[in-house]
Amino acid sequence: MEIFDYAVVGGGVGGVLASALLSKLGRAVILFESLSYLGGCAGTFKKDGFNYNAGATTITGLEEPMPLGKILSFLEVSPPLKEHSISMQVLVKDKKINLWSDSERLLQELDNNFKGVANYKLLSELKISSNKLWQTLWKFLPFSGYTSILRFFLRHPRETIQQVLWYAKSGLAFKSYINGHQDYRQLLDYISLITSQGFLNEVSYGVALLGLSYPINKTYYSFGGVSNLIESIAKVIPTIYRKTTVFKVIKADGHFLLETSKGQFRAKRVILNTTIWNLEDLVEIESVKEFSRQAKRVYSKAWSAITLYAKVRKEYAKDLSSHILILEEEPLSFGGTNELFLSFSLPEDSIMSSEGYLSLTVSTHARPELWENVKKEEYSMRKELIKEEILGRIYKKLPALKGAIHDAFVGTPKTFEKYTKRYKGLVGGIPMVRKYFPFRYPLPFTPVDGLFLVGDTVFPGQGLLGVSVGVINLLLAIEKDFRKCWSYA
Ligand SMILES: Cc1cc2nc3c(=O)[nH]c(=O)nc-3n(C[C@H](O)[C@H](O)[C@H](O)COP(=O)(O)OP(=O)(O)OC[C@H]3O[C@@H](n4cnc5c(N)ncnc54)[C@H](O)[C@@H]3O)c2cc1C
Repeated sequence: MEIFDYAVVGGGVGGVLASALLSKLGRAVILFESLSYLGGCAGTFKKDGFNYNAGATTITGLEEPMPLGKILSFLEVSPPLKEHSISMQVLVKDKKINLWSDSERLLQELDNNFKGVANYKLLSELKISSNKLWQTLWKFLPFSGYTSILRFFLRHPRETIQQVLWYAKSGLAFKSYINGHQDYRQLLDYISLITSQGFLNEVSYGVALLGLSYPINKTYYSFGGVSNLIESIAKVIPTIYRKTTVFKVIKADGHFLLETSKGQFRAKRVILNTTIWNLEDLVEIESVKEFSRQAKRVYSKAWSAITLYAKVRKEYAKDLSSHILILEEEPLSFGGTNELFLSFSLPEDSIMSSEGYLSLTVSTHARPELWENVKKEEYSMRKELIKEEILGRIYKKLPALKGAIHDAFVGTPKTFEKYTKRYKGLVGGIPMVRKYFPFRYPLPFTPVDGLFLVGDTVFPGQGLLGVSVGVINLLLAIEKDFRKCWSYA
């Protein structure tokens, strides 16, 4: 039986990027994905012949000094992407605010909507400091624990002190710019939640810097759905087993044995693109099970999501922004939060937008515990109620869409658990809140040599951007050849 250099379990963005980079380095890699499509939470699925993005819809981090662009050029892959001129439109109270990617237009928009606010100062701080933070991050990697911090301090004492100060300062400091505007406060809070899974009072200044700078970075649309971006990257990987679930990972005779729905496979090293909480059920090694049990105790506070998918008549939606963030005063029922994030496919995208319809994905954060042990009838009833509630909120804010939304259906924490296999349907990874990030944040290593983790439950966390940095971090730590090539990439 062939022994692969690496077996990668899970074809989410983490598993695909790790497999592609390792394949490019010449390693023999086999990738397993239980679904028929790649991407996981950033995948695109088909229902009744129509395509929907499951979760992630916005793509950032393609320009220097950020990671996705670096990875794509390293892999020599050019997926079909289009830059958005507006990263998102925010509807809060009676305001409609376009977050333009052009900085002058953005400043003007913010000044028009929020009088007496130090918008210029805020945007300059976001631009300059987040850029500094990215530069520091590249010098800092690979992060493999406290020794990395000490080593970095000895080489770059000023930058280390800067990072410590940004850690010590709360993300709330950003509210000092905004002069008491309640709606601005809510806007910043929810951008922080979307990008780092924590509100401003929960995250450090450094994390808030990265999160809030999201709308001022360039954002991109992936033609054919976000899966199409992931599938373009996956072309670099020679061996992919789709519709193949890995049931057990066992250590045997100095290598790993993987029991899957398509038989047994062997590998010298294994990379798990599953959550840290799932390891207990997947890995038949007691130290790893204990590691996972401990993770369940320590990182017990994480989010799930409620989603709504629908078809939208093209002619009704033609003047709408591709991404709209609706902020409400009241949270959604059954553990939902106050935001709805709407993403429409572009009319010219022939795969996502067909037969006169655009594809719509709506998402909001949700408390997963409220979806546990719910009986079947109650579950169906809740889904129906949630659907009506989400549609009602959309129609109130965007009356042009009345009568335009068809075939809507809802996803819950249970849906994410079922399809992505994520423990309790926890999506979005471990929140980057000060309680965890960065000092207690999980690293990509397990107690077993040769068994590693990628994905949004390891440093530095969630989103396509966070997960790609995590993959780079792991490969810098374990692959000498990658260290050599990456510095030239
Ligand atoms: C509603 C929602 C909206 C989001 N919006 C954005 C956004 O706009 N922009 C952004 O950057 N990020 C966004 N995110 C976050 C982003 O999608 C995730 O952080 C990222 O996709 C996680 O990738 P991952 O590789 O860690 O894991 P996953 O996406 O969970 O992928 C893991 C994969 O492993 C497979 N798998 C698991 N167990 C097994 C097994 N035993 N055998 C075989 N296969 C297995 C699963 O099927 C899955 O495909 C969003 C997330 C959600 C839920």
